[in-house]
Parts: sequence; structure tokens; C-alpha cells
Amino acid sequence: MNRKGSLIVLIGPSGSGKGTVLKQVLQEDEKIFLSVSATTRKPREGEEDGVHYFFIKKEEFETLIASDSMLEYACYCDNYYGTPKATVLNRLENGQNVILEIEMQGAKQIKEMYEEAILVFIVPPNLSILKSRLTGRGTEDEATIEKRLKTALDEIKYSKECDYVVINNELEQAVKEVRAIIEASSCRSSVYHHFIDDLLQQ
Ligand code: ADP
Ligand code: 5GP
Repeated sequence: MNRKGSLIVLIGPSGSGKGTVLKQVLQEDEKIFLSVSATTRKPREGEEDGVHYFFIKKEEFETLIASDSMLEYACYCDNYYGTPKATVLNRLENGQNVILEIEMQGAKQIKEMYEEAILVFIVPPNLSILKSRLTGRGTEDEATIEKRLKTALDEIKYSKECDYVVINNELEQAVKEVRAIIEASSCRSSVYHHFIDDLLQQ
């Protein structure tokens, strides 16, 4: 079947549960492809090169930007993060759905250049739950948590420009909704333009 894959972009404030939702979506949907980003930040304990990120040097990252090899990129907390272009575009061309988990600046770039991208905003049920999830995760100190909570307000405003909002209250329900969005995205008429053209040629 001559159809393109969907590009799904998961965004939301730190602690909203993007990683948790994504992990379960990937377990339940074996066909979707998760793009591995490149970053200049140092690997955390347990993170593997090529699995969690491609960990590269700043100079290497800047060469990739200069050669137009990044679909999008952003500087976040003093480090570069970006989505390698070729793999994502090839997968989409071959009809596979692709999912990205990126921050807001990158999501805006994607939407500008690739209008069909579907932006899904994961939002916490309320700000005190966001704070307690961030604190409970235990990966950031108090000052970083405060900084992330301030950034969260700007990010949450951006949700109004996204295609979908999923409230991550009950995890199972949030996963169900993200999967429903992915499913529905495969039936958009734009996905079938080539197919319809071929049909009309018969
Ligand atoms: P993000 O990737 O958006 O920064 P995480 O996926 O790391 O957020 O989630 C932040 C914390 O909240 C983690 O400790 C995670 O286990 C917890 N969490 C995520 N979703 C839920 C949920 N629906 N109910 C309760 N806790 C959750
Ligand atoms: P972390 O350092 O915690 O792994 O990621 C920091 C932030 O960078 C998160 O919000 C994450 O979603 C975002 N991020 C990860 N990969 C990319 C990417 O390829 N592009 C952009 N723009 N953001 C990314």
C-alpha cells in the first residue's frame, strides 16, 4: 500500500510523564519507530550510546547542523539535542509511523517544516501533582525542580497550539489515548493522497 507513515511528536513539561507513557506505548505498539536523538550532554548512569542517545561532541553536532543533517535541533540547558533527519524521513517514506520525544523549541521547528506532524501534549492533572512527580522521580535537586516548574508554565501555554492534549492522570488511560491518536493518524486523508491518485489511474 502506497501510504506515508505518521510523525508523532510527544511534548510536555518535565515530569508530566512523557517518558513513562512512551515506554508503554512502545511496548504495546511494536511497529512504531522511536527516533534516537543526538546530544552533546554526558551520558547518565545506565544510558547507552545509540540506544538512549547518540552521545557526540559539540564540534560533531555543529558539523551535522551545517550539513543540514538534523530535522530539528535545540540548545536546552547548555547542551545541544537534535533529531537525525535521514532515518526519520526514510521510515516515514516507507510507511512506518515515527515517534519523537523532544522539547518545545524542536517541536515548533518540526511543525513549521512538516505540517502533517502530529503534536501531542502530555499534561499533568494539576501543578501540585507535577511537582510531586518531579520530586518523587528523584533525579533533580530542589533548585532544578523549581526551574523546571517555572518553564512548565510556558510549555503548558503552548499546548493550545498542539493538535492533541492528553491528561496523564491514570497512566493506562493516557497510554490508551496516545495509542488512539496514533491509530487515527494513520487514517488521515493526507496519508492516502498517493493511494487515491493510484486508484484514480486504474
Ligand atoms: P517526563 O519524561 O515527562 O519528564 P516521567 O515519565 O519521567 O516524566 O515521569 C515523571 C515521574 O512521574 C516518574 O517518576 C513516573 O514514574 C511518574 N509518573 C508518570 N506518569 C504517572 C502517572 N500516570 N501516575 C503516577 N505517576 C506517574
Ligand atoms: P534529557 O537531558 O533529560 O534527556 O532531555 C532534556 C530535554 O531534551 C527533554 O525535554 C527531551 O524531551 C529533550 N530532547 C531529547 N531529545 C531531543 C531532540 O532530539 N530534540 C529536541 N529539540 N529536544 C530533545
